[in-house]
This record gives sequence, C-alpha cells and structure tokens, in this order.
Amino acid sequence: MHYISTRGDSRNSIQRTFTEILLGGLAPDGGLYLPESYLQITRVELDRWRGLSYADLAFAVLSKFIDDIPPADLAALVGKTYTAEVYCNGRAGSLASDIAPIRWLEPGLALLELSNGPTLAFKDMAMQLLGNLFEYVLAKKGEEVNILGATSGDTGSAAEYAMRGKHGLRVFMLSPHDRMSAFQRAQMYSLQDANIYNIAVRGMFDDAQDIVKAVSNDLAFKEKYRIGAVNSINWARVAAQVVYYFKGYLAVTKSSDEQVDFAVPSGNFGNICAGHIARMMGLPIGRLVMATNENDVLDEFFRTGVYRPRSTAETRTTSSPSMDISKASNFERFVFDLVGRDPALIRQLWTKIDAGGSFDLSGMPCFADLPSFGFVSGKSTHADRLRTIRQTFEKYGVMVDTHTADGLKVALEMRMPERSMVVLETALPAKFEETIIEALGRQPERPARFVGIENLPQRVKVMDVSVDEVKRYIAHQIDVRS
Ligand SMILES: *Cc1c(COP(=O)(O)O)cnc(C)c1O
Repeated sequence: MHYISTRGDSRNSIQRTFTEILLGGLAPDGGLYLPESYLQITRVELDRWRGLSYADLAFAVLSKFIDDIPPADLAALVGKTYTAEVYCNGRAGSLASDIAPIRWLEPGLALLELSNGPTLAFKDMAMQLLGNLFEYVLAKKGEEVNILGATSGDTGSAAEYAMRGKHGLRVFMLSPHDRMSAFQRAQMYSLQDANIYNIAVRGMFDDAQDIVKAVSNDLAFKEKYRIGAVNSINWARVAAQVVYYFKGYLAVTKSSDEQVDFAVPSGNFGNICAGHIARMMGLPIGRLVMATNENDVLDEFFRTGVYRPRSTAETRTTSSPSMDISKASNFERFVFDLVGRDPALIRQLWTKIDAGGSFDLSGMPCFADLPSFGFVSGKSTHADRLRTIRQTFEKYGVMVDTHTADGLKVALEMRMPERSMVVLETALPAKFEETIIEALGRQPERPARFVGIENLPQRVKVMDVSVDEVKRYIAHQIDVRS
C-alpha cells in the first residue's frame, strides 16, 4: 500500500508507506496524502464483519490502509485504543460495552454516538488511535516528536488527552486567551501531565494558527526541535474515521444489500471525507449529506461548483464554533477524486486557492459527475440550531449539541422514505452549555468526571502574539528536559 500526494507528478510521484506519512502533515509538494487506490470491500467480507467488536472492525478496516505495521502489533494498538474504559464512560445510558452505539430517534432515523470518549467530541475516535500509533512508531525508531498545534477548543483537548503521559511525545498547544468556554479551558488547562504544555496567546484563534504556521515554516527550528503536527489533514486521522461509517452501516442494516445515508456536520471536511472514502471502498452508502453552519463555503460548492474560501474577516463566530472555518483543509482530497485524480489540475486549482482566490468547476464534466459521488448539502443557522435542539428534545427526549443539531436539521430536509439516515453525533451538549440553555432553558447533563472541573488548578502559560516568544518557550522547555 503506497500513498501519493494530491499534487504529485505521476512520473516522479512521491510514494510513501503509512508509517512514513504518519507523523507528517502536508506532502513536500504541498499536497495531501491519499492511498494510491482504495482497496475494495466485498459483500462477503462485509457480511463477515457483522457482529465484530469495534476494535476488531477497526483492525479489519485499518488493515486496508496499513501494511507496514505487523498485524499482531496493529491489532494490539487498536485493541488498546478502542476499549470500554476509554469510550463508554461519556454519559449515562450508553450501552456499557458498545463503542459508537446507534441511538434510534424513530424508525429510519438514528444518531451514531461518537462523543463518549475522553473529551466528549468525535475527534477522540481518531486522536486516541493517533496517540498510540505515534508512541509505537517513535519507540521503534528511537525518536521523539514535539507536537505543535493551535486550537479553538475541540482539537486541542482531544490531542492532549490522547498524548498525555506518552513516551517520546510532548504537546505544545496554543489557544486564544480568554476566548474558549470555561469548560473547554478547564478541560485543557487542568491537565497536570509533564508532557503537556498549554500556551494561551493574547489574541484570536487565527493569531494562534499563524504562529504555528510561522514556527513550522522555520525549517531549521522545526528540524532541531523535531516539531510535528496532528492537524485535521493528518492521513491517519482520516483513516481512523473511515471505521465508524462501517460500524454505523452494519449497526442499522440487516443485509449488505441495503443502502444507508449519512449526515455529517462539517467544518474542515475531515469527517465526511472519511465517509467518501468508505463509499469509494464499496460500503453501500447511498448519499453523504453534508451540513454546514453559517460558514457555508462547502455548501456553496456543492450547490454551485464554486469553491471560494472566505477571509478571516468574513468568517463568522457561531454557536457551532467547531465548524467555523474559512477554508476546508481536507477538501482537496475529495476534489482530487472528483477530477479523476489529476494532480496537474489540482496544482492549478490550488495555486488559485493558495493565492487567496477561488475556482469554479461548474463548467467542467466532472461537476456533472457529482451525483455519482453521493454528495448533497445544506446549511443551518443559529435559529435552525435552536429549533432543532428544542424539537429533538421535545419529540424524542434526546439532547443534542449544537453541531449535531446542524447535521440533524439538514438530514431531516434530505431524508428519503425507505432508507435509513444516520446522523453523526460530533459532540455532547455538555461542551456547549450556553446555547443549550438558550434553546431549552436548562443545563445539559455533565458526565460525572467533569463535574466541578472549572475549580481544578490550571497550568497555562499566557503570552503575547509573538512567534519569537513562543519559539523561545518551546526551545527552553525541550532543552531543559532533554
Ligand atoms: C471538528 C468538529 C466538527 C467538524 O469536523 P470536520 O472533520 O472538521 O469537518 C464538527 N463538530 C464538532 C463538534 C467538531 O469538534
């Protein structure tokens, strides 16, 4: 199994194995990695997978992407990741041993619960695996890596809970000072593990993101201090997410002849890109229903063929903040498949994007092929979100978070009779208390282990928006401890 870059030249293309790309982000040519082909799943195989535990299913699916870790080791890593202790203490009422259980709202409409992990968002599903894979590969190579990232909330906490206490790994996570919810701050800053460093910058998320980019662009610094990333373009994160589409499909069907639709609250397009890949592998997914919030750059593309990333100034702060994106970093993977895997065309399109421009595929034959990729899209606003949270609670007695509400809102518009629709639950309502109170006039339930978390002592270094100050801090912490 080889990986190629979306911007690679087919004659001298970069071919890498899974563990070679595991610790990296972008390919050297600026593209994103994808398998050179998608291994197909047969109906017989799919039927054999019915009834497997999540860990065994994950091993079966991930074996289609990873062939340079011995199977016994991969099985052990996956087994250690997807355990009931890690994923089943999220909330009361979850099936005690089922990881990513299905919750039926009514016949034909279900939520796939992906948010019962350590930080109450679906990002744990992939990030926990990444933590164990990193530790394993670094130990084999006798190397260390220092993860540098910026977060507006969910990614940072998922990364820290996945990497805490791991050998050979440190995490330096930048967040915007005083801009996350008290709960999100407490989740990250109360971690006392020596390998976790929280840096709060006196600025916005974009300032934090710019510092990360500046540090990563200093190649000498990056090499000397072995700086790595776990951002959403990391291939292993996408691969880990392919698994739960198989899990959801098998859980709501009796036969592998049935088709299922999936609705996905989307931001950086990582989650739904995994659904696209599952479908390309032959999982009988009918449609992939993509939901955006007010930041509707992706909805606009699927409706019009125009992809026009927004400026930071145009990007709105909404009540589903984890979907507040200006450009969708994983989208390039899908467009690569849509245009028939033509890297020259991708280079041409993204030259425009990287220069702050846009592109329009509406006149191209590939845009007419879009329906064969199963995508449909819609958007949801603050008012839709509040209404969906309220109606879901009244009708089904189920409290959904603001992002899941966006997915559910669009799912209800797109639903077809005779076909099950599975909405991916991307976070628990406890993470977004303020909007839940606005919608329902009551506090969401908080898992016992987070009660009073705001009162725990916090470890965070507050800094100005300064690349040099951040570099000095990172260098000092690494030099002191090695
Ligand atoms: C990250 C996130 C999303 C968006 O997922 P993408 O993979 O970036 O499309 C949606 N909801 C929540 C709660 C998230 O944390």
